[in-house]
Amino acid sequence: MNVLVTGGAGYVGSHCVRRLVQAGHSVTVYDNLCAGHRAAIPEGVQFIHADLADLDTLSKALSQGFEAVMHFAAFLDVGESVREPLKYYKNNVANTIGLLDVMRHCDIKRFVFSSTCATYGEPKEFPITESMPQAPINPYGHTKLAMEWALADCAKAWGLGACALRYFNASGAAADGSIGEDHDPEIHLIPVVLQVALEQRPQVSIFGKDYPTPDGTCVRDYIHVEDLAEAHLLALQNIHPGVFDAFNVGTGIGTSVRQLIESAREVTDREIPATDAPRRPGDPPTLLADPTKIKSQLGWRPKYTDIGSILETAWQWHRTHPNGYPK
Ligand code: UDP
Repeated sequence: MNVLVTGGAGYVGSHCVRRLVQAGHSVTVYDNLCAGHRAAIPEGVQFIHADLADLDTLSKALSQGFEAVMHFAAFLDVGESVREPLKYYKNNVANTIGLLDVMRHCDIKRFVFSSTCATYGEPKEFPITESMPQAPINPYGHTKLAMEWALADCAKAWGLGACALRYFNASGAAADGSIGEDHDPEIHLIPVVLQVALEQRPQVSIFGKDYPTPDGTCVRDYIHVEDLAEAHLLALQNIHPGVFDAFNVGTGIGTSVRQLIESAREVTDREIPATDAPRRPGDPPTLLADPTKIKSQLGWRPKYTDIGSILETAWQWHRTHPNGYPK
């Protein structure tokens, strides 16, 4: 297929671009590079350096005969979304609606959407299945849920085929060490912990130690970015016109903040000082996927099911790229 990938220079997007290319698809990346990296886009992949809000450029791009769009371009910092909700509604909602509108005009009816476990808010039961209530507790989650609703409505109204992948915690790096995670500022636990291992930061703060979890720190389901990429490829191949569907993408295995730091100490063989800090606003205590649906309906299987092997790939990337991509 001829696929346009928005946000294809970003962390998850760039791993998906590589997987699509490997599978024989023809890929064009559309990215404003506000968070993505030119160096993350493989040689030979067409690149359009533009913003999603630039509807003229977007319309021209999408009239080149695409069969599908994978949409990664979005803001994802939960804390920032609490402080600046309109920034999130503009990019994650308004710009995505603009994209769907252009797709409709160009008669493109396959859409894979980066959704999130944050749409579940604070679920009462674990693991989380797709049919559990979606009640986000922060603006980031609201924007993603709003788009899931819009996709379901577009599927009914004009035959859009859309698949929302509800990511748990994207993590790790390409097994061959070529691409990985590079955010500025870095806020995610794994890269922060590995920056401490590299002595680029003095310590890692553990945000909250009195959560209702076994060791009092937040539990997350860390999913390797290449397993996420595989889920996107399968989703693309299984989209049906007029149908909206959503899948959890997680391993079903929970890791607490303390367990993750301990595992990182083993993988890196470094001390990694950690100190207790207040809770971070907007953080649910536990997020744990039930991946039964994606396994049974799409045949997806994660290759990485333990936090140590995920951390090893991340460590390989951070050790060899201590300053991330060339700026
Ligand atoms: N976290 C932490 N210290 C940090 C960064 C994150 O304790 O410096 C915690 C955070 O509160 C959450 C977990 O680690 O419980 C994962 O956070 P991350 O930002 O990596 O992903 P999120 O779950 O927000 O998508």
